[in-house]
Parts: sequence; structure tokens; C-alpha cells
Amino acid sequence: MRKPLIAGNWKLNGSLVENQELVQAILSGLQEVDADMLLCPPSVYLQQVLALAGGTLYVGAQDAAEQDSGAYTGETSAQMLADLAVQFVLLGHSERRSLFGDSDTRVANKFTQAVAAGLTPVLCLGESLAERESKQTEAVVARQLNAVISANPNVDWGNVVLAYEPVWAIGTGMTATPQQAQEVHQFIRELLQEKLGAVAEQVRILYGGSVKPDNAAELFSQTDIDGGLIGGASLKAADFLAIAKSI
Ligand code: PEP
Repeated sequence: MRKPLIAGNWKLNGSLVENQELVQAILSGLQEVDADMLLCPPSVYLQQVLALAGGTLYVGAQDAAEQDSGAYTGETSAQMLADLAVQFVLLGHSERRSLFGDSDTRVANKFTQAVAAGLTPVLCLGESLAERESKQTEAVVARQLNAVISANPNVDWGNVVLAYEPVWAIGTGMTATPQQAQEVHQFIRELLQEKLGAVAEQVRILYGGSVKPDNAAELFSQTDIDGGLIGGASLKAADFLAIAKSI
């Protein structure tokens, strides 16, 4: 049985005051939430959010370096995140891939570092609109996932989280239909089964892309959708909680 996970990706948003208000509002509204909850603030706020979350909510970073140490100005290593007691890290988010040059190989290296540091990676996969329109969705998602599996075949995949996030649905208000999302989630699980065997049934696969309180329940009711990676709506406690309650 896979426990649902609702993750909030705050992206480049927040302040000490806003974070405190947001986390406290989330903590005070957790009745009836039957899912693991994860907050991913900007890295500079990880310690603050860890202290506020007090072990009730999981805390994750939005990225980690592909190297473990050295002359890499501006980077944060997976080991440093683990040192703070951060539990999760988003990897391969489409904004990292498209705006910051994260290739499949780099994402695979970051994944290696994250697992070695004891972090749970939330590996993001997804196709662009042009790729969907040219019927490349499965090929793109398979390429992105295979790059990470082939570089990391022997890790505990049961502890890995995947997030299917069609790029055309992120921050656009356009959501994949529950059927479109389920088709890709099922494809991803079958690929995991083929490459890694029975552990495929343990892997949580989140959907991300304009999830809102009014579309979450139908998405989450799909067989292979185990929760959500929420961007914009995770910055409003009421919306984030409403999404979590709908699972
Ligand atoms: C995201 O950034 O991962 C995301 C899904 O954003 P949004 O919910 O705003 O589409």
C-alpha cells in the first residue's frame, strides 16, 4: 500500500515572515489529512522551515549539486542538506531542466549524490507541449527515467518518489485530464516493473501541473497517482490543505 504524498514546491517565493505564517496555518489545519506532507522552500529557508515543521511535515530542498564538494560556487551538496536533517530533494524539475541546463546525465548524477546522502529524491519527469503534440510523451519520459535508472540500478527504488509533471501544465492553469495523467503514470510504473521488478509497486508517483482544490480529487482517484507535487497552490495554506484533504 503506497501512502499518499502531497508536496509543495515553493520555488523562488517566501520570506521569514511569510514562511512562518504559511507553515503555522498548514500545521493548524491538518485534521482529516491522511497523507504525508512535504514542504520544499528555497534552500536559505530550510532550517527555518525544519524548525517550524517540527517533524510533523517533511521538508525537502528544490535541488542539489551533482558534486559532493569542491570549487562549485553557489551549489549546495546533498550531504549538506542531510546535515541539516532535510529528508527529500526535488531533482530534474522542468524549470531546472529548461532554465538551468539540467541534462538527463546531470540529473542522474544529482540522484546518485542524493541517495548516497540518505535523501529521498523526488525525480521529476515530463514532456513539453510540442513533444506531446508529436506523440513523444512516452519516449521523453522513458528517456528521462532510464538515464537515472541505468546510472543508479542498485539503490533502494522503493524509497524513491517520482513526479510526472507535463511541462505544458506547470504554472499554466492547464491540467492534464485524469485519464491523460493516469496513462502516463501507468506507463511509468510498467517501465519501472520492466527495469526493476516488483519494487515498482512501492514507488510513489505524484502528478504535478496546475493541481488545484477543484481538480485534485479526480486526479488523485486514479490508480497510479499517489499524490501531487503542487506549485502555486502550495503557497496558500487553505488551497494546499484542501488539495491534501481531497486524496
Ligand atoms: C511545479 O512547479 O512543480 C508545479 C506543479 O507548479 P504548478 O502547481 O504551479 O503548476
